[in-house]
Amino acid sequence: MKIYDVIIVGAGFAGSVMANQYANDNKKVLLIEKKNHIGGNAYDYLDDNGVLVHEYGPHLFHTNIKEVVDYLSKYTSFYPYEHRVRGLINNVFVPIPFNLSSIEELFDKEKADYLKEELIKEYGMEKKVPILELRKSENTDIKELAEFIFEKVFKYYTMKQWDYSIEELSNQVSDRVPVFVSYDDRYFQDTYQMMPKEGFTKMFEKILDNPNIDIKLNTELKDVLKFDFENSKIYFENEAFEGKVIYTGLVDELLDYKYGKLEYRSLWFEKKQLDGEYQSVTTCNYPTPKEEHPFTRISEYKHIMENKPQASTIHIEYPYAYDANNEKGNIPYYPVFVKENVERYEKYKKELAKFDNLILLGRLAEFKYYNMDAIVKAALDKYKEIKD
Ligand SMILES: Cc1cc2nc3c(=O)[nH]c(=O)nc-3n(C[C@H](O)[C@H](O)[C@H](O)COP(=O)(O)OP(=O)(O)OC[C@H]3O[C@@H](n4cnc5c(N)ncnc54)[C@H](O)[C@@H]3O)c2cc1C
Repeated sequence: MKIYDVIIVGAGFAGSVMANQYANDNKKVLLIEKKNHIGGNAYDYLDDNGVLVHEYGPHLFHTNIKEVVDYLSKYTSFYPYEHRVRGLINNVFVPIPFNLSSIEELFDKEKADYLKEELIKEYGMEKKVPILELRKSENTDIKELAEFIFEKVFKYYTMKQWDYSIEELSNQVSDRVPVFVSYDDRYFQDTYQMMPKEGFTKMFEKILDNPNIDIKLNTELKDVLKFDFENSKIYFENEAFEGKVIYTGLVDELLDYKYGKLEYRSLWFEKKQLDGEYQSVTTCNYPTPKEEHPFTRISEYKHIMENKPQASTIHIEYPYAYDANNEKGNIPYYPVFVKENVERYEKYKKELAKFDNLILLGRLAEFKYYNMDAIVKAALDKYKEIKD
């Protein structure tokens, strides 16, 4: 039997960064991944159009955490990339997050000047204001603008994306895209905004390129590990495994859904290849009612690339409720942050805490929205904690 110090389930950021750190400390790692590739949701590949396609939707790297940049820079070089998004409002594509330029593009000059002045007076320049806060403004003109933005940017987009109204969801959903009192039309304002030179998959290959790591693709947790829930033991090849098991998958699945299913939103991408350019920026949002556009956004990957090919590949993004048995929507993407799910997750977490060698890490196992930089940081911190 091969002796492993640690078994890691899932080869996304969480699992791969943990595997890398253990291996660098000369520990033997078994990394299992149910998909046929590493990289988790950040997986990308060069298609026959010469376009680096992000299989699971556009992944843009941005962070303020230098430690994360320094860590990843050991495995890739980066080129600068600043993400821009436009949203279709009253038949015009305007900057998203909604900002002072969006106002100029949607209202006549006199009205636009007045609204901009009121916003700046109330909140100050370069201020990000969550839409729910803007709607509470006592200034009637700002309130009217807030209702316009709410209707045109948030209401239908949220319903399409989540199948819940904005009020039913935790504020962390709407706060991610605030109204920006600024002319800065970049989607992110982080200090570091860049993309790995050869893509994410190549970066993952380097992160995992270590003789101490054995990777098994197309392998489910259940193929390798048996959980004895009565005695809180995990078995590997019929023997109790005493090393750490790092799990980055779904917790409800691990416990056979005994407290009910945790709700996730999923996506399905219609892929189209074309010649030339489809749109002016990487992502165009369609915050229109479902009846007008059943999809939420269109992403054109060549805009992200350092050297743009002539041909183009786009993804048209359709949200679905997650169901492992669906033909479309069978990958859990976003945890749905409503009260019932959060409470249900806590029950699973409590039950799994009985396994003293089991660590839950990552967006699925922690039922949490993590950006890439945040999960890298979480994995670096978790490893330090374990080591100590
Ligand atoms: C559409 C979309 C767009 C995004 N865009 C951005 C962005 O622009 N910028 C940004 O910073 N972040 C973005 N993110 C977030 C980013 O994808 C996450 O931060 C990152 O994927 C988290 O890594 P993870 O390892 O926790 O999860 P994952 O990447 O999902 O990795 C988990 C892995 O575990 C495997 N697994 C699960 N269960 C099992 C099992 N039972 N057996 C074996 N293997 C298993 C899965 O197949 C998967 O490969 C985006 C996310 C989505 C969904």
